[in-house]
Amino acid sequence: MEAPRKTPKPPAYSCIVMRLLTIAILLGGSFGLFAAASDPLEILVLYDNTSIRTDTQADWGFAALVTFRGEKVLFDSGTKPDLLLSNMKALAVDPAEIRHAVISHGHGDHLLGIYKVFPSNPSMKVYFLDAFPDPAFRNAEAIGMRPQRVRAPIKIVDRIYSTGPVDGNPPEQALVIETAKGLVVLTGCSHPGVAKMVEAAERQRGSKSVRFLLGGFHMLQQAEAEATRNIESLRALGVASVSATHCTGDLPMRLFAKAYGSQSATAGAGKRIVWD
Ligand SMILES: [Zn+2]
Ligand SMILES: [Zn+2]
Repeated sequence: MEAPRKTPKPPAYSCIVMRLLTIAILLGGSFGLFAAASDPLEILVLYDNTSIRTDTQADWGFAALVTFRGEKVLFDSGTKPDLLLSNMKALAVDPAEIRHAVISHGHGDHLLGIYKVFPSNPSMKVYFLDAFPDPAFRNAEAIGMRPQRVRAPIKIVDRIYSTGPVDGNPPEQALVIETAKGLVVLTGCSHPGVAKMVEAAERQRGSKSVRFLLGGFHMLQQAEAEATRNIESLRALGVASVSATHCTGDLPMRLFAKAYGSQSATAGAGKRIVWD
């Protein structure tokens, strides 16, 4: 649902009251108190098992850049740091502009790129789960990175959140963007189960609908019946559109495309998705 726009009432009292009201609305607007009905959200896939452009490369792993309300948040960072940086360059992404990076879980195909992105902006805030293996923290310390140890759901920046650790092997965090028209959820590998990731996001934000879900859903070993059940659970959770990628698996990806039809999109490095 769209947030109702606040509009000033017609002049009722005096010019001074109207002027004060106008100033308040202008100030409120700049601080997001009277946010516009929708702020554009851009998700740019930086690293994926496939690539949709000739100047970006495909590799097993995942990374995406979220741009929303003037903030750039990196979600995951792929496997090979140089490949990530080369894809960023091709997509005109300046790593120095990234102020926050959230890593979904401790596997190398989501984690390793951050160690080469961070030095471009040493004031970058990086969010690991507390449960990441010790070497992840030791490697961070070696380059002066002090990752936040995420132990519970947290706000990253205004309207962008981490679900905090969702129990699984390994535990994982998803990124949740609260847009005026519903939640957008990004997952890395969804080792705990993609439905559990979505449930955690909805519980945290007190919402029963996800307008868009993108990421790895880790269903690659699932046969048709099990994958279909999982797709149905996502529907029951109010997931309106999906982009299943990375470790989802070929058969489940085809089943998503069939079940969601026009509400299903492929991802791949270089894919740019914009929501208003
Ligand atoms: Zn993994
Ligand atoms: Zn993965």
